[in-house]
Amino acid sequence: MLRLDKYLCELQKGTRSQVREQIKNGLVTVNGSRETRPERKIDENKDLVCFRGAPCVYEKHVCYMLNKPAGVVSATRDNTCETVTELLKAEGRAGLFPVGRLDKDAEGLLFLTDDGVLAHGLLSPVRHVEKVYYVELDRPLSPADVSRLEEGVDIGDDKPTRPAAVKPAAEKSIYLTVTEGRYHQVKRMLKATGNRVTYLKRVAMGGLRLDETLKSGEYRKLTREEVTILRTHAWGDGPHTQKGDRTKE
Ligand code: URA
Repeated sequence: MLRLDKYLCELQKGTRSQVREQIKNGLVTVNGSRETRPERKIDENKDLVCFRGAPCVYEKHVCYMLNKPAGVVSATRDNTCETVTELLKAEGRAGLFPVGRLDKDAEGLLFLTDDGVLAHGLLSPVRHVEKVYYVELDRPLSPADVSRLEEGVDIGDDKPTRPAAVKPAAEKSIYLTVTEGRYHQVKRMLKATGNRVTYLKRVAMGGLRLDETLKSGEYRKLTREEVTILRTHAWGDGPHTQKGDRTKE
């Protein structure tokens, strides 16, 4: 249950004061009756709220894909640098956080959500969710280097990396698919082959590719179908259901 004004704010119908004004002006109905009290409690799973005549579809959680630019940190707050959540502040959606991280100098696909369950599934070390990176290198990879990456390399952790897939892109660039999310993983994997990453961009994760129409720094909300794909990858048992989440009905 939540207050009508908060409910409408979460649906981005306006600021708290704007939606209160609209409610008082009689532009909102609840279950067919005009409701002029902003404090009216709404059961987001049962009540039908109409705003200016149009039914509201309440989403308990949201998920965005961002084309992260270099120079921005994958955090909610930072003392010196711009953060990825600040790039989405115009959405006015509280509680968003990045699903995992990309290094400050890395670019590409980053999901931001307020759905802890989804994020947990995507990041869980036991789920092995695939991530695909476009990687530019200091020098070409030899067939032996490719085999080492494919089999798993020692990057100084307690165990080698899991097998990865390598697809050549150009003489000094590859697409690398990994199923772990260790710290600086791609850079350390390439370092283990005596190479160096000069450019890194994530192009896919959890069954979704970065939307090519998003310019660097741009983002968009995922569609329901895309969220379902992510959930399937995160939990592997079809759409994961959470109590009270209409997006999964
Ligand atoms: N691997 C890295 O080295 N950096 C990233 O940002 C992501 C994967």
